[in-house]
Amino acid sequence: MRVRRPLAVLLAAGLLFGPTTAATAAPPDPETRDAAVESPRGQSDTNLPFGVGSNQRGRSADAPGRQPAEPAPSAKLPGKPRNDVIKDVSVELTDASIPLNLIPYHGIPAALRALQQSNRISVEVIGQSVLGRDLHLVLATSPMTDAQWKNWQELSDLRISDPHAAQAKLAAGGYDNWRTPLFINNNIHGNEWEGTDASLQVLQELAFSNDTEIVKMLDRHVIAFVVTNNPDGRVAATRANANGFDMNRDYITASQPEVRAVRAQLVRYSPLTMLDIHGYVSCTLIEPTTGPHGDNYEYDLYIKYALRNALAMEQAILATGETRATCANPDGTRRNDIPFRDRSQGWDDWPPIFTPMYSMYHGTIGHTIEVPLNPRGNLAEAERHERTRINTAVAKASIKGNLGYATQNQKELLANQLEWFRRGVDGEATRPIDDPLALSLARGDNAKTHPQGFPRAYVIPAGADQRSATAAARLVQFMLDNDLTVQRAWRPFQLNGKSYEVGAYVVDMRQAKRGLASALLEVGRDVTNDFNAMYDISAWSHGHLWGATVERVTEDVTLDPKVLRPVTEARATGEVAPGNRSEYGLVVDSVAGIRAVNHLLNDGVKLGRMPNGNFVVTANASVVRPIADAYGVEFTKITPPEVRTAKPVAKTRLGVSANGGEIFALQQMGFTPISVTHTAFNNGALSFGDFDAFFVSTTSFNPLSLNATQAAAFNQWLANGGTVVGRGSSGKQFNDRAGLLDVTIAAGRSDANGIVKVVNDPASPITGNALPTAFVDAPQYFTRVGAGVRVDQRLADEGFFLAGHWGGQAAAAGHAVVVSGVAKGANVTLFGTEPLFRAHPEGLYPQVASALWWNGS
Ligand SMILES: [Zn+2]
Repeated sequence: MRVRRPLAVLLAAGLLFGPTTAATAAPPDPETRDAAVESPRGQSDTNLPFGVGSNQRGRSADAPGRQPAEPAPSAKLPGKPRNDVIKDVSVELTDASIPLNLIPYHGIPAALRALQQSNRISVEVIGQSVLGRDLHLVLATSPMTDAQWKNWQELSDLRISDPHAAQAKLAAGGYDNWRTPLFINNNIHGNEWEGTDASLQVLQELAFSNDTEIVKMLDRHVIAFVVTNNPDGRVAATRANANGFDMNRDYITASQPEVRAVRAQLVRYSPLTMLDIHGYVSCTLIEPTTGPHGDNYEYDLYIKYALRNALAMEQAILATGETRATCANPDGTRRNDIPFRDRSQGWDDWPPIFTPMYSMYHGTIGHTIEVPLNPRGNLAEAERHERTRINTAVAKASIKGNLGYATQNQKELLANQLEWFRRGVDGEATRPIDDPLALSLARGDNAKTHPQGFPRAYVIPAGADQRSATAAARLVQFMLDNDLTVQRAWRPFQLNGKSYEVGAYVVDMRQAKRGLASALLEVGRDVTNDFNAMYDISAWSHGHLWGATVERVTEDVTLDPKVLRPVTEARATGEVAPGNRSEYGLVVDSVAGIRAVNHLLNDGVKLGRMPNGNFVVTANASVVRPIADAYGVEFTKITPPEVRTAKPVAKTRLGVSANGGEIFALQQMGFTPISVTHTAFNNGALSFGDFDAFFVSTTSFNPLSLNATQAAAFNQWLANGGTVVGRGSSGKQFNDRAGLLDVTIAAGRSDANGIVKVVNDPASPITGNALPTAFVDAPQYFTRVGAGVRVDQRLADEGFFLAGHWGGQAAAAGHAVVVSGVAKGANVTLFGTEPLFRAHPEGLYPQVASALWWNGS
């Protein structure tokens, strides 16, 4: 029971059954008592990626005028901006922007200070990149007094807290002088540069021009620009950030610091429009997209304005006269590429991994813009510079076209957003597209949507076991960080005949941003037959892949306000069995549990692992108590016979041949992965004796490429009980080259991905405790399993494919997807699933940790 201690405190304080009428002054959340717990010793921010560590709260500013890189969990920032001191950074002559004739990262601070000379401009440092470079937000608006900002904030908040009241106020003229927020994000792909340069040029006008159109824009809007969402990639000419993440695939997961920083700004402003400026697609591409369209957007409200805004931006780009930025129509007129109008499939908005699609859950008309001309590669300097000049002009025209459209249609856009939020609080179903222009311009099936009703609520129980407690807190905190409202039960209660304990979380779906709650908690849908080609993944689910129990309440129940109170922070509290003990049990079925084990191993604490996969910790309460508090895990009473079954576990010296997302996920778990290659073993840079386990999912470690000496050392390492975990086709290839498990593998379509229902072997030390769902991408499954190989997990026989896109899925039904065995003395596990995919399916991580710790020999 995770809630025992805090509840005792609250009962003593008489808070639990206190007055329930003071809606504006709800008592503190049951969990806040533990908010002052210190972060684990020796852990830095990068080791605490979950945003729940107390070290991110109240951390003192590291420079005057600066605030912590990440805001306090779920604390919505005020709209009124600071104006930070923007310091110079060291000059990097290798910055990839320089040969493109674009602004290098070290040129940005001076440009921002010049803009700060205008009283229309504020600049904030909103966070840092993986390599520590500052992320800047520039806000442009006509000067406002503190009283005006206070009024601005009230009207801003009212949109979400009470859209009915906001609609009445709008009708009565109460929003006539309110400045609507607009948002422009740049350079999220580091090697797509020009949005940054274009934004600085537009900001120059916004800061200093007295043109009446410009002044009108500033009087009517609060315009937020993220100068670059990926400074490390800008400097290095990489699409990804320094952790190897494509951040325009990370917005719904928010594993990366650059994403969390910009997400907080989207939450802060809930902008009416949002541009995310990319490159390079010929003709210049402007969204809206092809189908399938995400089920959780109010798509009919979105498309009406997204299409018209796109057409306005197209006109602005055509007006530049840059013919290399546009394409010819058959009649000789010119156009951009608007996928909704010009393509039949393959450029969809289905997954909210993309920045503009994520922003749509905040009531925003979001667009990706792709400037036209690729300036990379081996080009003559003049051509390279000409391309970046045109791209910058195109990006600038799209921004100004968007600002112009939003200025002309300000009231309509705001009314549309309020209607979006009103449908949420009223619990209405989504609706089909009814806009004649959209219906007439849609190519193919692009106007098709899938109107749906939402459940009345979700319940996330939090006390049944450690995984449900820590995963529930993690999920709820994530929802709060995403501007969702979550409540918690202060008394046992019943919903639809089912009883829930004190501490259960309840997500009332009658809220403005309910589409985002649904996107996080639902499993999704099988869209295989909707469209042949999808742009990227087709499934994700925090509710089904993060380990929490999420129950859907579809009946029209009444949620009793006497039982539920809003949560402001969620954090699992730890438990330590009472008494004077020297040994404890620890269940490791969550990321928090894995981190706790690695922390204890790093501290030299003696650990053993029992046949069921649970741990024995040999330490007294003073050692385990801080770990329990820091990670929210439970140290239990354990009997001497149980202790005797445990085999000793040492700190895992882990070698990896894996992608950046997997390496990051292993680091999230508290491992210290070291990249290995056959070349590094052959040239003596690495030695097999320095490793306990290898995780292999890429081909850069090929046992057949080891020289004779190293091949012998590898075989000796296997015979000594080394551990091998292979993932995907490359993991299986490694297995075959090393002559390990006797299995035959088959591959699903390389573009297939989704969430699958699985059956776990309850006796497996790797998956015995695993979730009933898994994630696959380019799925692999085992069609033959030889003698001595255990099937740890297989796909369900019928209806295994819960959500995503997998043509030909039927052939895989019932087949094994995780297998293990002892071969040549080594402990070998092979995954056909993707348990670490882009650091998203956290609830599957324990399977990998268990495989790395498994000692079957
Ligand atoms: Zn891009």
